Order: sequence, then structure tokens, then C-alpha cells
Amino acid sequence: MKLEEFQAKRLFRDYGIPAPDGVMVTTAEEARSAAEKIGCPVVIKAQVQAGGRGKAGGVRLAGTPPEAYMASESILGMDIKGFKVERLLVDPAVSISAEYYVGITIDRRKKQPVMMVSASGGMDIEKVAAETPELIFFQEINPERGLRSFESKQLAFKLFPDKKKAMAAASIMEKLWKCFHDIDASLAEINPLAELKDGSIIALDAKIVLDDNAMFKHPVMEELRLPTPSEIKELDAKNHGLSYVQLEGEIGCMVNGAGLAMATMDIIKHLGGTPANFLDIGGSSSPEKVIHAMELLVSDCNVKTIFINVFGGITRCDDVANGLVAALSEIKTDLPLVVRLTGTNEEEGIKILSDFGITAMKDMTKGAREAIRLAKEGGGS
Ligand code: GDP
Ligand code: MN
Repeated sequence: MKLEEFQAKRLFRDYGIPAPDGVMVTTAEEARSAAEKIGCPVVIKAQVQAGGRGKAGGVRLAGTPPEAYMASESILGMDIKGFKVERLLVDPAVSISAEYYVGITIDRRKKQPVMMVSASGGMDIEKVAAETPELIFFQEINPERGLRSFESKQLAFKLFPDKKKAMAAASIMEKLWKCFHDIDASLAEINPLAELKDGSIIALDAKIVLDDNAMFKHPVMEELRLPTPSEIKELDAKNHGLSYVQLEGEIGCMVNGAGLAMATMDIIKHLGGTPANFLDIGGSSSPEKVIHAMELLVSDCNVKTIFINVFGGITRCDDVANGLVAALSEIKTDLPLVVRLTGTNEEEGIKILSDFGITAMKDMTKGAREAIRLAKEGGGS
């Protein structure tokens, strides 16, 4: 789960990390009055669960309340990396003299959290990481001992030769670690950590990703969830006993069992197609579940073909076939459908489908190939 900047900054401030204390708004009018209250200049920032807002035009300075209104008008509704801007953060603007980077994430290879810092922070940190990785300094953190004072100071002196500034930065690093550790984050990032003209050091941006597997420990954090449209779909699926993850491909998959669902996506990719989703309808195959699964697939406008891949073990193929017939009688769709059905009671299942006008296959590879062919045909017309 990702927090938006206004939520992450609030959390940072709770931990004593200096960060501008702005106002979250949802309309240009609110932005104008926030600018009046805060005092101009202000900076208007798109709140979305994605980075690169500055480059996309989602961060704008405003010198007067009317300017704040106009900037907000142009940012609201913008599409940034597939996210529609519905919220803005109005922050007091500051005069920056340099931008740094400080972040903590989990290094899976080392199985430890690691702090990364760089004097080349700001909007191009990805470029720095790719082209001049020597400009990024790392410190592994022992999760039991935590980030130790000498470790944060060593890192801070790599960014600031000046002792006072280095001490301020080291203190921010320690607070960032405490925050990261307390809330079971998988990422906590300040980019830029800004040095202002008056010499102070503050967090100008804030990014936090929480570990969903640890959310049960943090019900308070769960309340901060601002689900994206695809997450709303995934939560709704979960409530219907389905396990669904939306992807970006063209072939909508409906599969029984997580392992087979993974294998289905793999084989589609391997044969040159693109899966539109992971969808595990689980062991039981009640018509209601199949109907809901079909609804999920046809509501994704990227889907060009539906590939249903069922291996009947405990699940019986005739049950699935009945579910499918019920679903298809209810949901009208023009999308081509490929069904692969094999295992327990497959003959019965195949007959039920063929009475309904659907020819089911027994071979998974053939089914995947056919789905890819149909998707390409659909795409070309
Ligand atoms: P991101 O592009 O999504 O990472 O958004 P950021 O919050 O990092 O903002 C992008 C850039 O906007 C920063 O690197 C700063 O250069 C600039 N910026 C943000 N806030 C202020 C501000 O208060 N004053 C000035 N002058 N620039 C700002
Ligand atoms: Mn940033």
C-alpha cells in the first residue's frame, strides 16, 4: 500500500522530520483559500501514487492566490502515469539551494534494510542510479540494532561537509529509520531532502510504501488507504472469493488454482501473448463466482480474448461447465472465448459446453496459442 505525499509528510512530521505543513485540497477554490491562509508563494502538488510528478507538470509554484487557483485548475484531472489527479497538496513554497536524496528500502539479496543517500537528489535520481551509481552511498541496517548514530553521521558527512548541516541530516536519517521500522514500510524516501537558502534541511517530498503483509499490525495505517481504481476492483474480487490482479495485457485469464494461474500467464508470455490479469477462481466453482469472474474480465477494456483454463482435480469439470453456461447466459459479450477443460469429469464438462455451442480443448498450450491468435486478429481489425 502506497501513501500519498500529504499522508507521508504528516507521518514524517509525527516523527520529528521537518517537512512543510501544507493543506490537502480537492478543488481549485479550496486551493485558492489554502494559499491565502498559508501565505504566498505556495507550491501546488498533484497527489498520486506515482513519482515523476514534477516532470509531468504536476508540481507548480504560485505567487498569488489566483495563481494557485489557476495552477490547481490545470493540475486537477491530469493523468500522471495512469493516475487521475483528484487531490492536491498546497505547501508553503521554500527557496532551495541544493537537493539531496535519502531513502530506505529492503535489500532482498542481503535480506536487510538498506539506507541510500546521494548529494545528487531531485528529479533525476533514477538517472543517477543508472549512469553514476558511485554517487549513491549505502548503509545496511541491522534491523535489531537499528540505524546507529555513527552510521547515520558517516552517511550525513558524505552529503554535507558542514558539521551543523551534517548533524541535522543525520538526525533526519535516524528519524526516517524509526518511522520505516515502526510502520513496517518497504520503502521510505525523501527526494528531495532540500537544503534551503537559510541553511536548514527539510523533507520537500515524501514517499512511503507499506508492506501489505504487515498491515494487520497497523489498523490505523489501513484507514489511510486510498484505493486506486484497479485496487478497488481487486478488493471487490477478494470479497467475492476471487484472487484477482489486473495487468496490462490483452488476454483475460480465468483459472482455477494459483499455481495454474501463474503457469497460464507464463505460457501466454512464452508464446508471444500478453496476459491481462491474474485470476484464480479457487477450488469451488459456483456459478456466482464464475459470473463475477466473467464480469471482471469483460470490464477491462484492454481484454481482446478470454482464456479459461481449468484443470479439474477436486474441482469437477461438469461443475465448472455449468457455472460457465450460467455466466454466459447472463453476461453478453462479443469477446472470443477459448476454454481448456481437463481432469475430473472432463467428458461430462465438455459435453455441457458443446451443447451450449462452445468447443472446449484439453491441451493448455493449444488453448493459449488459440487465445493469442484470436487476440491478435481482434487487435488488427
Ligand atoms: P516528484 O517529481 O513527484 O518527485 O515531486 P517532488 O515533490 O519531488 O517535486 C519536484 C520538484 O519540485 C522538486 O525536486 C523541487 O525542485 C520542486 N519543488 C517542490 N517544492 C518546492 C518549493 O517549495 N519551492 C521550490 N522552489 N521548488 C519546489
Ligand atoms: Mn520527489
